[in-house]
Amino acid sequence: MTGRLDIVGLGPGAEAMVTPEVTAALEQATDVVGYIPYVARIAARPGLTLHPSDNRVELDRARHALEMALQGQRVVVVSSGDPGVFAMASAVFEALEGWPEAQALPISVLPGITAMLAAAAALGAPLGHDFACINLSDNLKPWALIERRLRLAAEADLAMAFYNPRSASRPQGFEKTLEVLRASCGDNRLISFARAVSTPEQALLTVTLGEARPEMADMRTVVILGNSATRRVGNFVYTPRFAG
Ligand code: SAH
Repeated sequence: MTGRLDIVGLGPGAEAMVTPEVTAALEQATDVVGYIPYVARIAARPGLTLHPSDNRVELDRARHALEMALQGQRVVVVSSGDPGVFAMASAVFEALEGWPEAQALPISVLPGITAMLAAAAALGAPLGHDFACINLSDNLKPWALIERRLRLAAEADLAMAFYNPRSASRPQGFEKTLEVLRASCGDNRLISFARAVSTPEQALLTVTLGEARPEMADMRTVVILGNSATRRVGNFVYTPRFAG
């Protein structure tokens, strides 16, 4: 049997947001590899082995997936949302560096609906003009770089989507983020908190930066900051397509 590796995105949570090509890859799989809560979304069936692993072991997980594919297995690496957005696809390519046997494997990246797009759709169209997408976790980059990107994106009047806004291990980070944004964008800018989008626990909240509190975000929240023209219409938030 010829092995292969598919790196897939499961979307933000709803079954209806899993693409048909991802469903097909999962139906063909002999092995599914990924972070525990994402692997938990895959139904067990005969002939399929699930390999859940803890967070922060992305490179080990990627190597393990490639080893199984080299042994002839049909391996699917799962991420939530899109696998190329702060997720496993980059880890697999990093593991491929300097490993020519693994580079010869058939490998595909199958996109998924990333959290910010599902959140933007639920809110209206806050990302309707130019925007930046920033991971607020400082696990893999220094805080000073995050702060610099926040300031420069604000100066460019970009709307922004923030992933991993706040966790127990980083209690201060999001508070600092809000301070930087208030200083750059003022108190009246709209900011939306979209939690557990597309799941039964989905919760949406839009406030001004002056009203925003760190507790409004957790690790299941994607945060969307508007640009200077972002406004409300009815129950929706949108950013006009024109600027300047
Ligand atoms: N690859 C994923 C992102 C992984 S980083 C994607 O493309 O969506 C994990 C972060 O994604 C979370 O901390 C949160 O900010 C965001 N996220 C993932 N699923 C979400 C959902 N259903 N609702 C809101 N935010 C979500």
